[in-house]
Amino acid sequence: MTKRIFRSILAVALTVLAAALVLILGGLYTHFTNVQFAQLREETALAAHAIERQGLSYFDGLDNGLTCRVTWIAADGTVLYDNLSDRNAMENHLAREEIKDALANGYGQSVRYSDTLLERCLYIAQRLSDGSVLRLSLSQSSVLNLMLGMSQFIVMVLAGAIVLSSALATRLSRDIVKPINELNLDDPLSNREYEEILPLLRRLEAQQRQLRAQAVELEQKQREFNTVTRSLSEGLVLVNSGGTILSINPAAARLLEVTPNCLGADFDLANRNAEITALMDQALSGQKGEQTVSLSAGDYLAAASPVLTGGSVSGVVLLLFDVTQKQQAEQLRREFTSNVSHELKTPLHAISGYAELMKNGIVAPEDMVCFSGKIYSEAQRLIQLVEDILRLSRLDEGAAGMTWSWVDLYDAAQQAVQSLAAPAELNNVRLRLEGGSAMVYGIHPLLSSILFNLTDNAVKYNKSGGSVTLRVEDREKEVVLTVSDTGIGIPAEHQDRIFERFYRVDKSHSKEVGGTGLGLSIVKHAVLIHKAKLELTSRVGQGTTITVRFPKVETGKAK
Ligand code: ADP
Repeated sequence: MTKRIFRSILAVALTVLAAALVLILGGLYTHFTNVQFAQLREETALAAHAIERQGLSYFDGLDNGLTCRVTWIAADGTVLYDNLSDRNAMENHLAREEIKDALANGYGQSVRYSDTLLERCLYIAQRLSDGSVLRLSLSQSSVLNLMLGMSQFIVMVLAGAIVLSSALATRLSRDIVKPINELNLDDPLSNREYEEILPLLRRLEAQQRQLRAQAVELEQKQREFNTVTRSLSEGLVLVNSGGTILSINPAAARLLEVTPNCLGADFDLANRNAEITALMDQALSGQKGEQTVSLSAGDYLAAASPVLTGGSVSGVVLLLFDVTQKQQAEQLRREFTSNVSHELKTPLHAISGYAELMKNGIVAPEDMVCFSGKIYSEAQRLIQLVEDILRLSRLDEGAAGMTWSWVDLYDAAQQAVQSLAAPAELNNVRLRLEGGSAMVYGIHPLLSSILFNLTDNAVKYNKSGGSVTLRVEDREKEVVLTVSDTGIGIPAEHQDRIFERFYRVDKSHSKEVGGTGLGLSIVKHAVLIHKAKLELTSRVGQGTTITVRFPKVETGKAK
């Protein structure tokens, strides 16, 4: 810009200078011509006066070094005298304009090329009293010579003007550009140097305002995005089409075991899981995919989707979902199904075997009662198993549809004691109920099954002559049920597992006493539904105590 302004200023200055020079030279030329004419006129008048007095003798002593040409012409046009040319060689001058005018009017003047001297000349002619004409002429080359003499000065003036113009143009262009270079673009309207660029500054200001608003909006969105992704337990990774990490949330960084500040790094280099790398590469080629991958934090479902912009892949979103629990639940379900089939198969095989023997008439009539008794007891076991499985599956669904009400746990315990009195007596076990009335807000059948299963186990896994004590206590903040026995006890290494489905310390003993391996699982579920706590203390050979603590609720709603 500075160069352009400099060149413009210089060009203007030189053009003006050249125009001024042409005009001045033109003016000078006209002025000098007029001065020459005036001089010539005076000299002609003086010479005419002298010739009138002296006649031709006037020319005798005339110096040949005169700058002007003197010609005397007779009235018929014949040249009588010429100080520069031979008069005899000169043609008749009657046709000359100034001669014609002088003969007619006594005076004539003209400017033209001289045929004789081949120069532009000024002519002044004056008629004498004898009718002849005296003509004085001057070559204009003298004017040009004058001008040529000035040329050195003109060149100097021109050179000076160019230098001065250049210096001024440099200074001027710098002064013009400087405020523009120093514009405060952060606050465009604060610049008041040039009113002419105010519309431009206003547009800049408007654009800056728009940019600022967009930046604030963008920052806010980024913050929202970061807040959301930071609190996500799922892993989220964004990469561009070149596989460079654009965003990674803390969960993803932790799961993939990369540093959270790996932004800008190549995903394939940062991530060490080959399956996820393959998924990402597939997504980068435009194909979405998902796969369960085993990470150190557990099992995760990795889903990689390409981000399409205008038909081409501009990036990939990778999501990592925790499926550990789902996998575990599936594993448990698989185990449960195979356990159920196994548990059902055993009594069914037994029933089928006894029935086959009876059908083939192999069984002696006196053994028939024994065989049918065995079939009956296996069928009972089957029924018990199916009932327990059904109860558990209802509990798995969260006891939906079951009615909640206030239940006196002491009354429910009494019923359990009554219903187990016979088996207890059979096993020679003494059953006792202690404590007093205590209201619990819960599901009556579930509370009963807790009481029944715990008491049943305490009787089943007891010794002859042993005892079982049920105790219901109404405390300030909780209702406590304790079932303690003086039975065989549970070895420490099994205590954590006896609440698992089908887990039994001694399988054959459990079967012997009619156990299904599901009783404590049902208890655990029922206790959970009532938000109660379960505690177990047991010593092998001394007995077991199981405590259930029901928290008291203020509103009367335990749900
Ligand atoms: P089961 O139907 O076999 O009794 P449970 O789920 O009720 O199944 O109990 C699981 C296992 O825990 C039992 O098989 C038994 O080995 C052990 N157990 C439960 N209660 C007692 C107890 N009071 N004393 C000793 N062992 C017990």
